[in-house]
Amino acid sequence: MNIPKTISLDHGSGGLASQHLIKDLFLKYLSNPVLDGLEDCAILEQYNGRIAMSTDSYVVDPLFFPGGNIGELAVNGTINDLAMRGARPVALSLGLIIEEGFSAVDLERIIAAIAKATELAGVDIVTGDTKVVPRGKADKIFINTTGVGVVPDKVNISGKNAQPGNVVLVSGTIGDHGITIMANQAGLAIDGDIQSDTMALHPLVDAVLQQSGDSIRVLRDPTRGGLATSLCEIASASSVSITIEEDKLPIRPPVNAACELIGLDPLYLANEGKCIVICDQEKAEATLGCMRSMDQGEEAAIIGRVIDDKPGRVTLTTRIGGSRLIEPLTGHPLPRIC
Ligand code: MG
Repeated sequence: MNIPKTISLDHGSGGLASQHLIKDLFLKYLSNPVLDGLEDCAILEQYNGRIAMSTDSYVVDPLFFPGGNIGELAVNGTINDLAMRGARPVALSLGLIIEEGFSAVDLERIIAAIAKATELAGVDIVTGDTKVVPRGKADKIFINTTGVGVVPDKVNISGKNAQPGNVVLVSGTIGDHGITIMANQAGLAIDGDIQSDTMALHPLVDAVLQQSGDSIRVLRDPTRGGLATSLCEIASASSVSITIEEDKLPIRPPVNAACELIGLDPLYLANEGKCIVICDQEKAEATLGCMRSMDQGEEAAIIGRVIDDKPGRVTLTTRIGGSRLIEPLTGHPLPRIC
């Protein structure tokens, strides 16, 4: 490889060093007919349907953590935002902002993870950009991905669509990603096999939409702010109330234990491979069965209901039968978890 041990300002200059970086590293892992052209932009095939588009920047610290690294997070996170409107992802862009002096070995690990995640997801990186900024002007590496997807005919998924009587499901255990990153930031080792849940959810969404069609009202990936904040957003956007039951929430015991230790609530922890599904009551059991039959939803659960109460209100029925008001995350920003 024609790349030294560390990335220099030259690698972002657009000159010869940039070309080496692109050809010897990026194309080595990410090659596909569209990207290989190295044109000013990618031209995608014609697709039938509405185009969905989403963008997200990834600044997670640490870059490498149990269960993944910033690379797969940048792929899966943007794919999931497309999937949450029922879109089938078709292409991604990749923008890198690298701090001068960043390890080329670490960069290769990240690019390899991006390649693996895109291959697993069946979505190519079709265009990209690399900038290198002087030492101290960025922290190691930041990544932006933009995704384009196609929404199949008649699919109408929105946070505004929840209706009283609907059932609320979640695709698996909550808090795994958030606690993995926050324990790492706090220098704590967690007991048990806890790791980030980063994964692409579009196969699960596809299956659920085929199973339950327009009975699926809302999909939302509870990332920053966690399940609590996402449910509050949905309740507010749909002008409904949502109630969930504490003893139905899938949470791994070590996540609960670590949360108690650090003083965190798993309801507010970020997830990077989970989704909330809100559907018509008649299709709730079939939707649950469908989710559980998929790798991405083995631990799916019905956790609550949409009710006709004060718009925007979310409540939790505790194990001992009490009722707790759930509010969106405020005041305590959880820094650099994705
Ligand atoms: Mg999202």
